Amino acid sequence: MSFNDFLLANEKEIRMSFFFGMLVFIAVWELIAPKRALTMSKTVRWVNNLGLVFFNSFILRVLFPAAAVGVASLASQQDWGLFNYFDISFAVAVVASVIIMDFVIYIQHVMVHAIPVLWRLHRVHHADLDYDVTTGARFHTIEIILSMLIKFVTILLLGPPVIAVIIFEIVLNATAMFNHGNISLPKTIDKYLRLLLVTPDMHRVHHSIEDDEANSNFGFSLPWWDRLFGTYRDQPRGGHQGMTIGINKFRDPKQVSWLPGMLALPFIGKMSGYVINRRQWNGKEDK
Ligand SMILES: [Zn+2]
Ligand SMILES: [Zn+2]
Repeated sequence: MSFNDFLLANEKEIRMSFFFGMLVFIAVWELIAPKRALTMSKTVRWVNNLGLVFFNSFILRVLFPAAAVGVASLASQQDWGLFNYFDISFAVAVVASVIIMDFVIYIQHVMVHAIPVLWRLHRVHHADLDYDVTTGARFHTIEIILSMLIKFVTILLLGPPVIAVIIFEIVLNATAMFNHGNISLPKTIDKYLRLLLVTPDMHRVHHSIEDDEANSNFGFSLPWWDRLFGTYRDQPRGGHQGMTIGINKFRDPKQVSWLPGMLALPFIGKMSGYVINRRQWNGKEDK
């Protein structure tokens, strides 16, 4: 059995082990040293947030049994995509693929904030009234399906090595759980680590109830894109303890914390949406 075959045969188990390992690690960290006091029942949020995660993985398995690694393997067999077409060294292809796929996620994240109909889906992630490790995995099912399709297209165009897709998925999953953690690092460590990786204090700004703060720090794993494209914001105005998490319009726990409410959330309210204007985007400076 080649290494690729081994990865293909066991990718689900590999990803699951990292998911549960990281979930337990951050959950214990949150118990020992929580950053903020939670505003509502942890049990309700955990049961429903994780309920959504399991529902999503079930739907994905049914719709796309081959998953992203299957698409990467097909692309390599058929010589589809940039890195399969050109003779590029394996190491360069792996590193470049992981970085490019992270950039695509950044662009996707900016788009789901900017386009009203997509914001309706993405607001399920933002409507969580508290911010902890389970927030990092809570996305509406349709947004998860859309992300998967975008990932498939990216893989077909890019032709990344199978191992790069697995590394990318594990790193994205692990960093999303880490930086949604209700935890924090010592200031100096955070300051340097966020040059390389999105930290909890950096991503928490993105979950602020304030529009201009929610429209910053879109990165999930790599923080470079925010700095490069001017969407980086160092800290929340109200401080990490004073800031409010969530969305102004949606504060009813039944709607934002219970699974049926979350699944219905994209479909309620008039189609006025959430159009980013200059004032929101630029925040204070432009008021
Ligand atoms: Zn967002
Ligand atoms: Zn988030």
